Amino acid sequence: MQTVQTDRREFVKYSTLGILGLVLGGGMVFSQYAIASENRLRPPGAVDEKKFLALCIKCGQCLQVCPYHSIKLADFNKGHGVGTPYIDANERGCYACEAVPCVLACPSGALDHHCEKAEDIHMGIAVLEFPDTCLAISQTPIPAGFNDKMRAFNNSVTNVHEYETKLLEKFDAFQGKQCTLCADMCPIPNPMSAISMIPDSKGGNRPEIYDGCIGCGVCQEVCPTSVPSIVVKPRMSYEEYYSNKKDRS
Ligand code: SF4
Ligand code: SF4
Ligand code: SF4
Repeated sequence: MQTVQTDRREFVKYSTLGILGLVLGGGMVFSQYAIASENRLRPPGAVDEKKFLALCIKCGQCLQVCPYHSIKLADFNKGHGVGTPYIDANERGCYACEAVPCVLACPSGALDHHCEKAEDIHMGIAVLEFPDTCLAISQTPIPAGFNDKMRAFNNSVTNVHEYETKLLEKFDAFQGKQCTLCADMCPIPNPMSAISMIPDSKGGNRPEIYDGCIGCGVCQEVCPTSVPSIVVKPRMSYEEYYSNKKDRS
């Protein structure tokens, strides 16, 4: 439990300093500009961002129960909402646990308890942001060393969970293959409703996203390109992103 304790110490330190900073800064008023300027991936069940910032008591309960160490607490570098939980999909996405324990653990309503199962999670939507770098499209086999980041992440936690060990084993097996990582690692109960590999006009394959995507961020985490080709747009729906894109084209 070493890491969780460390995280909690950091949390107490940052939340105390954060409150002091807010008071010195002129009161406990959230800057609308700051809220609008940041769009952070929040844990499952997170209510609307403004309400979330008002309700979250920064207790760290959600991160303590997460078996994947997906949830972090925002520090000063992250702008507004110091001490609030978020998910950095470049490091570790949310693995959509069946009973959503992070939501169950939240005592304040910042994570809505109506989010009871993986299918209820709606964090955002995945987007193939950089198709030019996608290994499946360029038909480039997954290179050796692609798994260094995940291995380093698991090594960085002293209380690594068996789920994290199994995850790495599954991941390791992809080396040298044509890339289907985003589709094959998608953790939701019915991944085909969220993403699948379809033939691309250049002869390879490409990931296609569907409205079953919950925006968990796992595809972003596992994408082996140096800057992930596929990324999650937090708090955005499939309709908002893909219908608007269609209208624009
Ligand atoms: S659903 Fe599971 S993996 Fe995702 S943030 Fe909650 S506890 Fe962590
Ligand atoms: S495609 Fe799958 S892995 Fe990617 S964000 Fe959507 S649900 Fe998560
Ligand atoms: S994980 Fe998906 S988006 Fe990333 S390189 Fe592989 S196929 Fe392309």
